[in-house]
Amino acid sequence: MGIIAANLQAVHGRIARAASAAGRSPDDVALVAVSKTFPAALVAEAHACGQRSFGENQAQEGVKKATELSHLEILWHFIGPIQSNKTRLIAECFQWVHGIEREKIAGRLNEARPAGLPPLEVCIQINVSGEPSKSGVPPGSEAALAEAISRLPRLRLRGLMAIPEPAADPASRRRQFARLRELKDGLNARGFALDTLSMGMSDDMEAAILEGATMVRVGTAIFGSRKSDR
Ligand SMILES: *Cc1c(COP(=O)(O)O)cnc(C)c1O
Repeated sequence: MGIIAANLQAVHGRIARAASAAGRSPDDVALVAVSKTFPAALVAEAHACGQRSFGENQAQEGVKKATELSHLEILWHFIGPIQSNKTRLIAECFQWVHGIEREKIAGRLNEARPAGLPPLEVCIQINVSGEPSKSGVPPGSEAALAEAISRLPRLRLRGLMAIPEPAADPASRRRQFARLRELKDGLNARGFALDTLSMGMSDDMEAAILEGATMVRVGTAIFGSRKSDR
């Protein structure tokens, strides 16, 4: 077995154990393989093992891989910060966008989403750690943004996404995941129908799954460590 196949199997094992510990089905936790910085050939290798969803955090790099691999059935997830001048590329080439934090960006993605494609699946990013430098809307501002997004016909609001403070100890990370779940429940209590909690990465997917993650974004544990820090 190749290294990618072995790593994917190990990650599926971790997801299954965490889901079982939480009394959840492993089928309720989708795996997004974060392929940023890695070549299309490794994406193809993971695809050959049955992996279908891949995450990229730079528009041009993602589009290049999507073009190279257009013969494969792949769901591309944009997981990085979104610059205004990249909204068209993202709306045309990705199926999911995890990091919406501004109404203006949501509007641009809505306008650029091609009519022949299904609506873009999106998540609102929440700054659960409260660090001022972090991306995401502060907890409490998500309802206004969710209302705005729900008026955009070419976007489909699916849920919330967060990246906890990397330095946080495991207990604090778990509290941040729990916070995201509470915010999603709060929106659903107000009439939204969100089904997605995008949270958990290579180091903390178990804690995220225990707190209700429905999508984990995993790079290093599948593809190995990255040379660049992103
Ligand atoms: C890079 C990245 C990941 C994957 O992180 P790993 O620690 O390599 O699993 C997940 N989410 C986002 C938003 C990322 O940028």
